Amino acid sequence: MVCPKCGTETDSPKNFCEQCGFDLRDIKAQESLLKTDPVLVSMNNQYACYGIVRLVAGLAALAFLFLIYQWLENNIPERLGDIGLFLFLPALIVFIVFSVLRGSMRKKIQRELANRTQGNTYNNV
Ligand SMILES: [Zn+2]
Repeated sequence: MVCPKCGTETDSPKNFCEQCGFDLRDIKAQESLLKTDPVLVSMNNQYACYGIVRLVAGLAALAFLFLIYQWLENNIPERLGDIGLFLFLPALIVFIVFSVLRGSMRKKIQRELANRTQGNTYNNV
């Protein structure tokens, strides 16, 4: 695990960062919640799916842009250039939409995690 305060890689059995002494118990609790809590697991899966769609759409947009460029350079027939022109914008829109969805899902997960670990901290005190 990586310490969120100083970025040092720390062995998992330890509760405090060796470098800066940061309390890693909340982070560990969050990591295990992400693996075990059904709500968080499904949120995390959704987050991963958004990431995949975003990546594919981004790569497609780049490929269509490349097609447009090749067509402008007269390297490929106009028919292929048309494909690039028609599909570049939709791919870009899908990329942007899923970037936003992914970002908001990330915030939701962080909020959910913060809510739950705060509860745990109270119980430990
Ligand atoms: Zn640290």
